[in-house]
Amino acid sequence: MISESALQQFRTSLRGQLFTPGEPGYEEARKIHNALIDRRPAVIARCAGVADVISAVNFGRSQSVVVSVRGAGHNVAGISLCDGGLVIDLSAMKGIHVNSATRRARVEPGVTWGELNHDLGAFGLAATGGFVGTTGVAGLTVGGGLGWMVRKHGLALDNLLSADIVTADGQLVVTDSVEHPELFWGIRGGGGNFGIVTSFEFQVHATGTVLAGLALHPASKGMEALRFWRQYESTAPEEMTNGALVFNAPPELPVPDVLRREPIVGIGGVYAGPLEEGERALRPLRAFGPPAADIYQRMPYSAAQTMADFLWPRGIYNYWKSSYLKSLSDGAIETVLEFCAKAPSRRSVVVLEHNGDGAMSRVPEDATAFGHRNWPYNFLVTAAWTDPSDTDINIRWAREFWTAMQPFLADAVYVNYLGEVEEERVRAAYGRKYDRLASLKAKYDPTNFFCMNQNIRPARSASETAAH
Ligand SMILES: Cc1cc2nc3c(=O)[nH]c(=O)nc-3n(C[C@H](O)[C@H](O)[C@H](O)COP(=O)(O)OP(=O)(O)OC[C@H]3O[C@@H](n4cnc5c(N)ncnc54)[C@H](O)[C@@H]3O)c2cc1C
Repeated sequence: MISESALQQFRTSLRGQLFTPGEPGYEEARKIHNALIDRRPAVIARCAGVADVISAVNFGRSQSVVVSVRGAGHNVAGISLCDGGLVIDLSAMKGIHVNSATRRARVEPGVTWGELNHDLGAFGLAATGGFVGTTGVAGLTVGGGLGWMVRKHGLALDNLLSADIVTADGQLVVTDSVEHPELFWGIRGGGGNFGIVTSFEFQVHATGTVLAGLALHPASKGMEALRFWRQYESTAPEEMTNGALVFNAPPELPVPDVLRREPIVGIGGVYAGPLEEGERALRPLRAFGPPAADIYQRMPYSAAQTMADFLWPRGIYNYWKSSYLKSLSDGAIETVLEFCAKAPSRRSVVVLEHNGDGAMSRVPEDATAFGHRNWPYNFLVTAAWTDPSDTDINIRWAREFWTAMQPFLADAVYVNYLGEVEEERVRAAYGRKYDRLASLKAKYDPTNFFCMNQNIRPARSASETAAH
C-alpha cells in the first residue's frame, strides 16, 4: 500500500502528471496498443523529463511496489503496464534534436518512429528501425530494432551511439562504447532490464525518396508467389528490405475484387538507394504473376515508414507468436497458407521477414546483447480481433499455427516479438548470451527492480549459489 502522504510528496516532486484510479485521465492513461492488456496500476507517473524519471524510480523503490516502464506502449505482451504498482510513463517525453552536420539525432523515449522520421525528413535524413510508424523508439531499440533499412544499416541498436540511463538506484549514467561499455552492451538488446533510457543518440542516414510498396497476389497463387520471392531475395541488394505479408484487405484499401474474396499475399517493402537502380532491381518482383495489384510508389522515407500502419491499429485485441525460420521451405509456405485460410479473424496478419543477411549480420555476434543476427527469415503471427468474445478462438489459432510450424522454426526468437512473458522463451531470445546478461543484471539491478519486462534474472553470486 502506498501511503497518501508519500503519494502527495511524489506528486509535488513531478513536473509531469500523475494519475491514480478514479482521477480524470487515469482510464485513458492505462490504455496501451493491445486492448487485451487490461491492468489497473495504483499510480501512473507521466514524466516530463529526466528529473521526473529519477523521482519515479526513487519513489518506486521507497514504496517497494512493482514498477513498469512505458514508452509508446506497443509491446504486445503488455509489459509496460503493471497491476497495482507504479507505471513510469515516458510517452510525453517527445524531444528530438537533429544535428544534420554530423547526421546524429538525440531522441527522448516517448518518441515514435513515425515522429522521428517525420523530423529527420526535413533534413533529408532517416533512421532505420520500425516497420510501422506508431511503435516506440525506446522499447524497440533496447530490444533490437528491425525496420525498413535493416539490411542496409543494421538494427536500430546498431545505430545507437550513446544513451543516458537511469538505473535502479536512481542514478543517471551516461553510457557509450567507452563509458560503462558493459552497460552499453547490455542495453543494446537486453530490453528494459538495466534501467530507463532517457535519451538515445542515433547515427542517422542520408535518405531522400525511396521506392516502397507491395506486389499483391491472391492467396490461391501464394505458393508460386512465395517460392518466387524466396528465389528473388537470394540476390536482392542490401538497399532493399522486404517482407511477405498475408492479410485480408480492409475496406479502405483500394484493391480489385479478386483480392477481397480471399487473403492477400503481399510481397515487398522499401528500396532505399539510387531510384533508377531500385526500379531495375524491383522489375522481376513487380512483373511476377503478374500481381493482381501493384502498389509500389516513390515516396519520402517518412511515408514508407508509416505505409503499413493501417494493418495494426491501436486499441484492438492482439496476441502474437513468433520464431526465426530455419529456412523458408515449401513446407513452411504451405503451412502458412493453410493456417491463413482458416484464420478466425480478418484482422490477423502473418509476417515473413527477410532480414538477417545484410548489415545486421556483419556486426560481430558478441558486440551487443542482441540475440540472433544470422537467421535470414523471421516468422510472426499477429492475431488480431475486435470482439473480446473472440479472444479464445484467436489465441488458439495462433498457438496451433505456431505448433504446426515447429518443424520449420529455429529455437530462437526476437525478444520484442514475444507475445507473452515466458522465461523459457526469453532464454531462446538470448541463447548463450543469457548468462552474461544475468551477471550484468546482478551488477546494475541486483534486486530485479526492473522486473516487468522480458526478464533476465540477476545471476546469483557464488556464495548465494552455494547456500541454495
Ligand atoms: C504494431 C506493432 C509493430 C511493431 N513493429 C516492429 C518493428 O517493425 N520492428 C521491431 O523491431 N519491433 C516491432 N514491434 C515490436 C516492438 O519492438 C516492441 O513491442 C517494443 O517493445 C515497442 O516499444 P515501445 O516503446 O512502444 O514499448 P512499450 O510497450 O512502451 O515498452 C515495452 C518495454 O520496453 C522497455 N522500455 C520502454 N521504454 C524504455 C526506456 N526508455 N528505457 C528502457 N527500457 C524501456 C520496458 O521494458 C517496457 O516495458 C512492433 C510492435 C507492434 C505492436
